[in-house]
Amino acid sequence: SITQTTELNNGIQMPWLGLGVYKTQDGAQVEQAIADALEIGYRSIDTAAIYGNEEGVGRAVASSGLAREELFITTKVWNSNQGFESTLKAFEESRRKLKLETIDLYLVHWPVAGKYKETYRALEKLYKEGYVRAIGVSNFLIPHLDDLLGSCEIVPAVNQVEFQPFLTQPDLQSYCKDRGIQLEAWSPLLQGNLDVPLLQEIGRAHGKSAAQVILRWDLQSGIVTIPKSVTKSRIAENADVFDFELTAEEMASINALNEGRRLGSDPMNFNF
Ligand code: NAD
Repeated sequence: SITQTTELNNGIQMPWLGLGVYKTQDGAQVEQAIADALEIGYRSIDTAAIYGNEEGVGRAVASSGLAREELFITTKVWNSNQGFESTLKAFEESRRKLKLETIDLYLVHWPVAGKYKETYRALEKLYKEGYVRAIGVSNFLIPHLDDLLGSCEIVPAVNQVEFQPFLTQPDLQSYCKDRGIQLEAWSPLLQGNLDVPLLQEIGRAHGKSAAQVILRWDLQSGIVTIPKSVTKSRIAENADVFDFELTAEEMASINALNEGRRLGSDPMNFNF
């Protein structure tokens, strides 16, 4: 069901499915999207300081009537705030905006060269002090993880990366799996470009949409997924993926779409 969780490497339970809120406007739009999602049964929300909607996320959570421990809230430290002290400061700002005592998952948003290790050290401090229930990274490729794991104390619980049928990063998948790092998919729905014949064909065989086929493929691949929508019918559609199963053959045919094609920035070469 929609409340199914994966156990992270520190024993914390994280829902397999969450609502992404990138480009969802702060205020009424994000509050409505989250209210709809929570009503449908979502329990996990993925935001970031840079999305500019933490206050709206906080209001939606506060007015949900759900107990805090039923919800799983992720946010991320933005690139311009990386470094040890500045990350601690950015965290306080996120916590204040979200109006939360603790954050469930705090991520280093991008591997800013020369800074991400100090940033991660701040996350370790926040974790040890109990302000965050789990810490992790985002957009880290194998060289970044090798570098970080060479010196960190706490293995990241999660690595959130672009993951969609045309970019499956099999080496990164097995690297993370072998080290107990849960992979999480951003832009799982190809940013809405779902006009992919194979996905539609598989969908027809199951009475499901291309979006649902991808999200089911994420789950069966052992990857946490956070589709974004502000439309209630789509938020519901994206959660209706727990009542069918893709065959091994269908899984293999989707995996074969991989061509290493990115929609977003390359973590080896970004400048923001
Ligand atoms: P997505 O792949 O989830 O696509 C979202 C878009 O797909 C929507 O805007 C809508 O146009 C369309 N859509 C949604 N549901 C649909 C449906 N059922 N049928 C047809 N169209 C549908 O893209 P995303 O927002 O880029 O990624 C999801 C989340 O991942 C973000 O909201 C954010 O939380 C996170 N993210 C993180 C990073 C990072 O650097 N860590 C980067 C990008 C996104």
